[in-house]
Amino acid sequence: MFCDQCEQTAKGVGCTITGVCGKNPEVSHLQDQLVYLLRRLSVLVNQAEKKGIDVVGYDDFIAEALFATLTNVNFDPAAIRKFALDAFNSCRTLAAQTGETPEDLQQTFDEYLAGLTEKVVGLGAFSPDADVDSAMQTLLFGLKGLCAYKTHAARMDQRDADLSRFVRKALIAGTEWDQETRDLGGWLGIVLECGTGSIKAMELLDKGNTERFGNPVPSPVSLGHKKGKAIMISGHDLPDLEALLKQTEGKGINIYTHGEMLPAHGYPKLKEHKHLVANFGSAWQNQQREFPKFPGPILFTTNCLQNPRDYGEHVFTTGNVGWPGCKYCHSQDFSEVIAKAQEMEGFDDDYEGEEILTGFGRKTLADAAPAILEAVANGALRHIFVVGGCDGAFPSRKYYTEFVEKAPHDTVILTLGCAKYRFYDKKLGKLGDFPRYMDCGQCNDAYTAIKTAQALAGALKCDVNDLPLSLVLGWYEQKAVCVLLALLSLGIKNIIIGPTLPAFVSPAILKVLVDKFNLKLITTPDEDLKTCLAQK
Ligand code: SF4
Repeated sequence: MFCDQCEQTAKGVGCTITGVCGKNPEVSHLQDQLVYLLRRLSVLVNQAEKKGIDVVGYDDFIAEALFATLTNVNFDPAAIRKFALDAFNSCRTLAAQTGETPEDLQQTFDEYLAGLTEKVVGLGAFSPDADVDSAMQTLLFGLKGLCAYKTHAARMDQRDADLSRFVRKALIAGTEWDQETRDLGGWLGIVLECGTGSIKAMELLDKGNTERFGNPVPSPVSLGHKKGKAIMISGHDLPDLEALLKQTEGKGINIYTHGEMLPAHGYPKLKEHKHLVANFGSAWQNQQREFPKFPGPILFTTNCLQNPRDYGEHVFTTGNVGWPGCKYCHSQDFSEVIAKAQEMEGFDDDYEGEEILTGFGRKTLADAAPAILEAVANGALRHIFVVGGCDGAFPSRKYYTEFVEKAPHDTVILTLGCAKYRFYDKKLGKLGDFPRYMDCGQCNDAYTAIKTAQALAGALKCDVNDLPLSLVLGWYEQKAVCVLLALLSLGIKNIIIGPTLPAFVSPAILKVLVDKFNLKLITTPDEDLKTCLAQK
């Protein structure tokens, strides 16, 4: 196997024996084969679309299957093999519909996979040219993040045909079916196009979430617990949470969010369920330590899932998530999760716990824009830091805690994604009417930060790069790559990322990013704060 798609890749180079995340070689090979089949399928979907065939279902499938290969989503070889089989069958169906069955598709599925093994698995390179290889990897990993958001949006009937066409184009880029040849500039172009597509995917997801659940409003979230039966739900998928809330209504079971589900507490239609009571635990990388203490079942709707070790009997998965041996819930039927909650002991006491805030969504911040601008104009608000992205296991991530703690009192912190768990419980106080800590939501709510920055820049008639605003991002997996590409596609400069540079970025690609965007790696909180505050 070879996999270098996330920050914790072995030795900062690539996982070759087994994944640091727990992904084994069998799953890794199957995921590589699946990606190859999705590239093949994209060629056929393009042909089918030209013939007027309805391809919406195929486009949904491509995004969903690619999402299943994202870090910490699906470790179940049977599930990945099923995605690959469905992709192969879709290829054959479309080939037949378009009037031809190419030679490669005349084989059986097993013959097809066996033929691919030599071609695509374990090589660690898409191209012999190191820079093209780096660009292809950056594109593929950004695309995986994009497809995660696209899939969540499609589940709420939010789709965009041009975005689907881009996903196919990006999957085909650089393969044997690609009609275009690209120099490094051409590769950078399509990588930035992935950023533009990522903004579209985030916009669709924002639309789906806000139209269905209302615009998030600032809301306190308890970190305590209530006496009684309990279910924890983790991941991004708000419709899954809604279904679980409805199915547990009146059953005496309290629902706890975890990880990226925390911002759900800010959505009016979700918070009206009184048994949505608190957030449990901290960031994803602490789950093996924290989950055994939870006295109820745990439902994963997306990443980040780790090996559930001896508590796997309490872990359920749904959507794209899978772990061999963990029960899978189909079609939002959570009856087995509920039965498990009734069987388990639940909490035997009330514990008030700390309270934190979430719900600083796009509309709330847009409404606050005049006051923010006034505070900037009168010098009360000196700088806005967007500190967000992913959390992760490396000790160097204490940088983000220290950065936020050391940010001067006349600055505010906007945050998004699970990076917030490094500082979400710090008492940062207020600046005038604003809390100094404002949680915009999940990582896809980078869209909120982008819209807010654009609104402020528009009001001040300046470029986003001229605002007293700095972006300090933590990356771990491919959704962070997608968010970074989104920001770069808007021409946003001076972004600071950490805790390390991705292993898949070649020196030449890095040079382009540094020269064109002044992208920087984190140094120390003091040094970076000084640089950010001096820039504006
Ligand atoms: S996802 Fe990350 S940890 Fe897992 S195999 Fe790939 S690079 Fe290694």
